Amino acid sequence: MIPAEGVGTPSLDSMLKNKLPALGIDLGGTKLSAAVVQDFKVISEPRTVPTPHGSENIVSAIVELIQAFQKDHVLAGAGIATAGVVDPDTGNILGSTGNLPGWSGTPLKTLIESRTMLPIRVDNDANAAAYGDALAMGMADKECVIGVTLGTGIGTGIIINGKVFRGSHFAAAEGGHIRVNLGNKRFCTCGLFDCWEEYGSGRGLVATTKELLPGVTSAQSELANHVEFLTTRMITAAADNGDIIAQKGLNIWHEHLAVGIASLEHFMDPECFIISGGLSSVVNFDLLRELVIDRCMPRYAENVKIFHSQLGIYAGIIGAAHEVLTHITKQTA
Ligand SMILES: [Zn+2]
Repeated sequence: MIPAEGVGTPSLDSMLKNKLPALGIDLGGTKLSAAVVQDFKVISEPRTVPTPHGSENIVSAIVELIQAFQKDHVLAGAGIATAGVVDPDTGNILGSTGNLPGWSGTPLKTLIESRTMLPIRVDNDANAAAYGDALAMGMADKECVIGVTLGTGIGTGIIINGKVFRGSHFAAAEGGHIRVNLGNKRFCTCGLFDCWEEYGSGRGLVATTKELLPGVTSAQSELANHVEFLTTRMITAAADNGDIIAQKGLNIWHEHLAVGIASLEHFMDPECFIISGGLSSVVNFDLLRELVIDRCMPRYAENVKIFHSQLGIYAGIIGAAHEVLTHITKQTA
């Protein structure tokens, strides 16, 4: 039975919208992906296109993706997870990374809503992933949960009592740019030296493994002939084949990951860390926990909890979809 509308009862509009799925969109420097999300599952075939150059072309590509999905699905709204600094209330992009030049200043929510007539919510990609992961794992009521997205770089998001912690200028939780070395050894895409993501990300794994290769022959490691074009996939495949250099590179990479996580453990005292992103599938979670515990003071060591995301590579898409659904529910309740 549908209750009569009034104070404390949800409107018919909100009840209907709550049942509808939302589109989740993940905008990265190289690709733009989207899928329809219901509960914590992707219920459509995901679509991925290369990220176009320039703000106007990206906006057009997002509109085309939304319209393509609207042919087969009635959507409550669309959530967009993007690299960069975002004001989620206005949906404006306040700052962009080198991966999306010219993206800063784009009034994304306004532009997409005016062309699709669909409610839109925009957030930073790591925030969206952390939000989706915290909800999916039933951690929304916890004091603090930290999401760590491992890919080409490292994204982090902090969820406090079920809400994304944004800081005073919407730019909080750039954990990937915590400095982990004082030697000006690795230059980061952000313009600073020795950020955590230059060590603990996919780029970091490649850089670390390359440092092990000078003087190594192809008889000693299958990676010796690929120094120039080394990829994370080559390294993990070689490690699976028993390649000692690749395995050493991966072990050092786990240590680098642990350094950043241990710092965040001391700083935020979270309930847990949830690790997502493409590179999370190569993490040895038992090893990582051990390495983090080794780097923590005793009081912190006993509380270290690190989980693999249940949403995997769709954490950003699912989190963004839930952000728009949560916002619609709040507005119409
Ligand atoms: Zn950096």
